[in-house]
Amino acid sequence: MKILLVEDEKGLIITLTDRLTSEGFDVTSAVDGRQGFDLASTESFDLIILDVMLPKKNGYDVCRDLRQKGISTPILMLTAKGETIDKVLGLKLGADDYLTKPFEVIELLARVEALLRRSPAQSETTVNGAFRFGEIGIDFKKAEVTRSNSPVDLSAMEFRLLQFFIENRGTVHSRDDLLDAVWGYDAMPTTRTVDVHVAWLRQKLEENPRHPQFIQTVHGMGYKFVV
Ligand code: CA
Repeated sequence: MKILLVEDEKGLIITLTDRLTSEGFDVTSAVDGRQGFDLASTESFDLIILDVMLPKKNGYDVCRDLRQKGISTPILMLTAKGETIDKVLGLKLGADDYLTKPFEVIELLARVEALLRRSPAQSETTVNGAFRFGEIGIDFKKAEVTRSNSPVDLSAMEFRLLQFFIENRGTVHSRDDLLDAVWGYDAMPTTRTVDVHVAWLRQKLEENPRHPQFIQTVHGMGYKFVV
């Protein structure tokens, strides 16, 4: 797993690089926003750890510009203490999670692992940015779904669940696995939440939601996406 660390504090670069490397990650670091953006847009990473306060180009601009280029690598933002508004802004610009400085390295590792679980290695599907099944078309870059070429309105969670199903198609997922992978490490919802979201997706995407063709129930085990 390759991680890009964009951080200008030398001490933190050394600490995090050492720790992440010892956990088996391949770490590349950049010391300013411009270098970080260039690396992230030319090389492929599984995760980007992005400081907000950076020389040359701040973390928000890096994040926004990467998303505008269609690069969907998960981003964990590092914000300074008390920057609540900034966290919201970061998430709006397309960051997947944030961590407030100062933090324990163990906390960072937990977030990194949760983000990597949530976004399995990018498949062809998401690299190409599009996927089709039945009457449904999905543009991952724009987060848009159409049915017979008319827009379908999905919530962020429904979209994330659908993306997970597509990226892991053909595999049976238990409700607990789906909660973990899609809702994340700090999720409060119960397995019932999964059933509800699956039902909504079927309503919106299946020709006959009562006899789903794509999002199938595997009795006693969970769900499986089949195309
Ligand atoms: Ca900084």
